[in-house]
Amino acid sequence: MRKISKEAREFCEADKQLFIGNKWVNAADGADFETVNPANGTVLCRIQSAGESDVNTAVDVARKAFQGKMYRMSPAKRAGLLHKLAELLLRDLPVISEIECLDNGKPIDRAIGDVRAAVAHLRYYAGWADKIEGAHIPVSDPDTMVYTRREALGVVGIIVPWNFPLVMAIWKLAPALACGNCCILKPAQQTSLTALYLANLAKEAGFPPGMLQVLTGAGETGSIIAHHPDIDKVGFTGSTAVGKKILAASAASNLKKVSLELGGKSPNIIFDDADFASVRESLVWASFYNSGQECTLGSRIYVQEGVYDQVVTQLAEDARKLTIGPGLGNPDLGPLISTDQLDRVMGYIESGRSEAELISGGNRLKGEFSDGYFVEPTIFAAENQSIRIVREEIFGPVVTISSFSDEDELIDMANDTRYGLASAIWTQNISRGHRIAQRLQAGVVWINGYDLFHPAVPFGGYKESGIGREMGKSALDLYTQEKAVWVKL
Ligand code: NAD
Repeated sequence: MRKISKEAREFCEADKQLFIGNKWVNAADGADFETVNPANGTVLCRIQSAGESDVNTAVDVARKAFQGKMYRMSPAKRAGLLHKLAELLLRDLPVISEIECLDNGKPIDRAIGDVRAAVAHLRYYAGWADKIEGAHIPVSDPDTMVYTRREALGVVGIIVPWNFPLVMAIWKLAPALACGNCCILKPAQQTSLTALYLANLAKEAGFPPGMLQVLTGAGETGSIIAHHPDIDKVGFTGSTAVGKKILAASAASNLKKVSLELGGKSPNIIFDDADFASVRESLVWASFYNSGQECTLGSRIYVQEGVYDQVVTQLAEDARKLTIGPGLGNPDLGPLISTDQLDRVMGYIESGRSEAELISGGNRLKGEFSDGYFVEPTIFAAENQSIRIVREEIFGPVVTISSFSDEDELIDMANDTRYGLASAIWTQNISRGHRIAQRLQAGVVWINGYDLFHPAVPFGGYKESGIGREMGKSALDLYTQEKAVWVKL
């Protein structure tokens, strides 16, 4: 087991405040909450919980910054600040990844990978900061000139979940800041620590007060942000249920712009002509990565009839070999995030036991790790597509596996979901790969791979998996608005 550094331990154990205007302050009403290490259930520290008056203060500070320092800041300066933040994240990579590992539970190597992904995103959007251009539009009257400007929105609320705490925050912060907005980040209450660490680094990097603020708290804090009449935009990642509340809050307040990255129930499709060595290497990770707490999880596996038994047997064998334990020991899988999530996942497993055939797993870990929220990777064979474990997002290490005969049947099954985030196809028939990719209703299709990401490639959901595309050039549209300027010459 890796020994945690003094810096990371001290940071995790010190009680935390809100970060407003580059200062650490208590919530106006002094409310706070605990954050817990999911590997053993112990309290790491207490964190202030932002209420209405704290959100108001942060919005005022952000508005002043947006109209002042940020308005006057050159795009090159914004790029420089993002590059500096990336450099500081890399400098502190060992400490930040240990903090994430303790707070979220994920294996230390995965936490290190998350910090590197955050750095890559910051650098990619730093590159965009001085390339956000408008256009000249020729109109019929030669004495009239029209041009467009892409302008920052203003004050942006960013609300993120707990499964990839730092990465989810940076996916939004990097483009929003590159475009010149002032951001108020609300991390998930289960995993606030890396967001708070990031605040310190932003200040050290030279971010002026109000450019990035961090308000910790649970859903109530998020709801205040979503309803706030002087916030121009909310970028949200989380569940579809809360995403709908964010949209409703926008309608009920000021029609703030909203982009949503929501849940998924992604089909992972294996044809009988696949390269089975590659399938085997990928499938166990596509099914159980991050202990299944992943929006793109390949949670519905569809296998063509002739190879179904072989795939089921191999996946069960590979799942049983996965190591499980506290993140600092660098196992394959860490704990679930909380007791709530543990109860939810075990509830789905119980429902699966009565409605489908349990192939492997199905239990909470006993013995040495019984204080933590660990669940075995679990596989159900499910021919009936109307049962809960096939239809609902579980967000834990639980997958269903079903067989199909031909492409038409497969497409009906794969698209029979209210979600549409990700999907994958395994085949060596290039025409079939592209044909199925066209017919799948999902924002991402991987052919002969899974969970492939790059900052330059747009990501987002069809149907109830979201609104808008993050990453790539697409994210610039989420954090700017277009103005047409007409000039009579
Ligand atoms: P959640 O929706 O419960 O919470 C997400 C965030 O919203 C948290 O910060 C929470 O405090 C806040 N929140 C809760 N209620 C709120 C309200 N009424 N108003 C405003 N904010 C509120 O989701 P979670 O349990 O933290 O994360 C799991 C979900 O996130 C899953 O559904 C998963 O698929 C989804 N997710 C999606 C993506 C993606 O990119 N599409 C990525 C990661 C996670």
